[in-house]
Amino acid sequence: MNFEKLIRTVPGFPKEGILFRDITTLLKDGPAYKALIDELAESVKDEKIDVIVGPEARGFVIGAPLAYRLGVGFVPVRKPGKLPADVYEYSYELEYGSDCLQMHKDAIKPGMRVLIADDLLATGGTILACCKLVEQAGGEVAAIRFAFKITDVPQKPELERYNYQTLMTF
Ligand code: IMP
Repeated sequence: MNFEKLIRTVPGFPKEGILFRDITTLLKDGPAYKALIDELAESVKDEKIDVIVGPEARGFVIGAPLAYRLGVGFVPVRKPGKLPADVYEYSYELEYGSDCLQMHKDAIKPGMRVLIADDLLATGGTILACCKLVEQAGGEVAAIRFAFKITDVPQKPELERYNYQTLMTF
């Protein structure tokens, strides 16, 4: 399916100079959303995935239906203060300032093969933080999947260590 034409581009959001790729126009289209999840599921069918990890909030929109489709569990990665039990946390640098993500300590058992899913790859900072959380828990990052990636920002070289794919490129 041609997903590209269903992504809306909004210039100047959230600030001047940024070309924001808006996935909500694809998500509201039932057959397209289903086809997107089916294609992502097909791309990991040989990876023997035990569980899926997704960062809030759009990682939930991709990761949760993918988990249902593969018949495996879903683990949310969240901003600080949202998860109720003991957490691992990882802080990382942004262009301006830093950010922090957390995951429940008991969410992943050592040796589990984990798929990390998100809507979009830009620098890779968010997804590498998810990798660190999975690895702190003793899990193995078996695969990373995105709906799409944008190429107008440089990607972190560390991402090349992982098995990652995207369905579309902008
Ligand atoms: P990264 O951590 O630099 O790879 O950025 C990925 C995160 O930034 C994703 O979780 C997105 O939610 C957000 N993001 C950055 N640029 C865009 C965009 O153009 N459209 C939608 N989300 C974006």
